[in-house]
Amino acid sequence: MSNPLLQDHLLPPFSKIKPEQVEPAVDQLLAECRAVVETVLDGNDAPDWNNLVVPLEQSHDRLAKAWSPVSHMNAVVNSDELRDAYNACLPKLSQFWTEMGQHQGLFEAYDKLANSEAYSQLDEAQRKVIDNTLRDFRLSGIALGAADKQRYGELQQKLSDLTTKFSENVMDATDGWSKLISDEAELAGLPQSALASARQLAEAKGEAGWLVTLDFPSYYAVITYADNRELRRELYEAYATRASDQGPDAGKWDNSDLMTEILTLRAELAQLLGFENYAAYSLATKMAETPEQVVSFLNDLAGMSRPQAEKEYQALQDFALEEFSEPELESWDISYYSEKLKQARYAISQEELRPYFPMAKVLDGLFNITGKLFDIEIEEVTEFDRWHKDARLFNISREGELIARFFLDPFARAKKRGGAWMDDCRVRRVDNGVLQLPVAYLVCNFNPPVGDKPALLTHNEVTTLFHEFGHGLHHMLTRIEYADVSGINGVAWDAVELPSQFLENWCYEAEALALISGHYETGEPLPQELLEKMLAAKNFQSGMMMVRQLELSLFDFQLHREYKAGVTNIQAVLNRIRSEVAVITPPAFNRFQHSFSHIFAGGYAAGYYSYKWAEVLSADAFSRFEEEGVFNTATGRSFRENILEMGGSKEPMALFVAFRGREPSVEALLRHSGITA
Ligand SMILES: [Zn+2]
Repeated sequence: MSNPLLQDHLLPPFSKIKPEQVEPAVDQLLAECRAVVETVLDGNDAPDWNNLVVPLEQSHDRLAKAWSPVSHMNAVVNSDELRDAYNACLPKLSQFWTEMGQHQGLFEAYDKLANSEAYSQLDEAQRKVIDNTLRDFRLSGIALGAADKQRYGELQQKLSDLTTKFSENVMDATDGWSKLISDEAELAGLPQSALASARQLAEAKGEAGWLVTLDFPSYYAVITYADNRELRRELYEAYATRASDQGPDAGKWDNSDLMTEILTLRAELAQLLGFENYAAYSLATKMAETPEQVVSFLNDLAGMSRPQAEKEYQALQDFALEEFSEPELESWDISYYSEKLKQARYAISQEELRPYFPMAKVLDGLFNITGKLFDIEIEEVTEFDRWHKDARLFNISREGELIARFFLDPFARAKKRGGAWMDDCRVRRVDNGVLQLPVAYLVCNFNPPVGDKPALLTHNEVTTLFHEFGHGLHHMLTRIEYADVSGINGVAWDAVELPSQFLENWCYEAEALALISGHYETGEPLPQELLEKMLAAKNFQSGMMMVRQLELSLFDFQLHREYKAGVTNIQAVLNRIRSEVAVITPPAFNRFQHSFSHIFAGGYAAGYYSYKWAEVLSADAFSRFEEEGVFNTATGRSFRENILEMGGSKEPMALFVAFRGREPSVEALLRHSGITA
């Protein structure tokens, strides 16, 4: 019997894939991949591109093409059977990639190739493939001596246990506190939807009344809307002291010791691999080159944003005093009065904007804008094998030649994961002279059409669509022929959001809004007055938001850069950075860092700065369009050729400089955020 996952298809045969075929296909493909490794190493004294890299890439691509529809369908048309099949394969796949990353024979073959005459004959993208592979081998400790290698393994294992425990503590501390409220008057100010959720939470526990918890939606509703100041204070204290030595559950799920252990082991790991500290280790795979560069980047932004943040904070204090006779703001008052001030200044809701953004008009505008900028035509294909009736397929071509395809799955429904994302279905590569076209999945969760009304988007949703389409274009417009550095593959982590955030800019340009908006009944474009309100609301308290993000980024980066076991005090580092950057000083009991999972449990250790870094790149790239015209085709071509087409084939700084004519400047981001130095 033939398994559709093992056959060659131009596009995945979604409707023919059965859950019971998944695991056998993955088993067979993994066995093939392992066999290829044996074959390419067997008696290979002179590894070169064609006898080493190409056969490996072919086998990995076959695996990727079989797995992509499985993982996609698991996310968008989930079923118990498919989930079981998917989960059964995950450990096998992760085991395989670990095995490849630790493969001594493969490492030696790549190392030999990199030091051979053949290497210098390769083109730049091919050399980048080999360099990246060797870098990743080294970062996984393969080049260490036996004793160090063993220590490396122990450190990784311990870190994995400790960071898991950190997350568990945060989760338990979050779940471990709640407050049952029996008098609705105590919740005055909360929106109806939040009250309904609180009632539901109480009911689920068999209680009468309203339950408030430390889960973010519940916390957010109270801290932003509750008129009851004592309730806000109580919730703030519980939330800001989770998993720490302070607050109502002090010491119960305390992360203090885990944090110092994690930092100690990370510092040792970095030094074992030859880096001065963990911050330097983190940068080995990023666009930023040195710790000094990251710190001065963050400090520059802070210096320029802080005066504005102070002004905004003063305005908030004045507002609270004048309108509410509140002479002194505490940490639990900030969100509350900020929301009141925002409503007073720009009463505008996303719901008001919906009628102006029918999905068909938005898509048409998006295709029109990117068509002009990047010289492409986008056309829908109606006949194709789909996973759900809502799925759509589009062809991208240039001068009549097909160059890429993408699927769009726009609407929310049951059995579909929330959020929006772009994922890779096929990567662009050339195999024995045959070109494989790139294919992307674009997935959103918009409200489906109701009755005879078309699907209507909020402006936030329009921006999300542009963002994901930016990732999509990075994947689809690439001209690179080697899978490992083609499209979004091999792009440094702090540069990967450049094309996506970049494309969002068109959602705020009057000229572009004329193309993407049109009232679904009258066709009238977004009125000037609504547009102006929307733009003004966009930058509300942007200075305060900026310095808060910089405080977190600097804390994360400096802590990982300067940490010395037994010497460094985490709270002291945070206090120092706050005194340099922040405009709001939280109460002494605040232990925000004890639940900062991004850096203590997630992948953002010494990498939290990446959010701001990518924003600077995208804003600065867009500023060239502001200078030369937002629909300037020559500028669009330059962005396409220097950024979108190049994938991960060169260092991102070199690509940026090729497009912008200089290194990135923070000026555009500050200006777009309404911050003027
Ligand atoms: Zn993104």
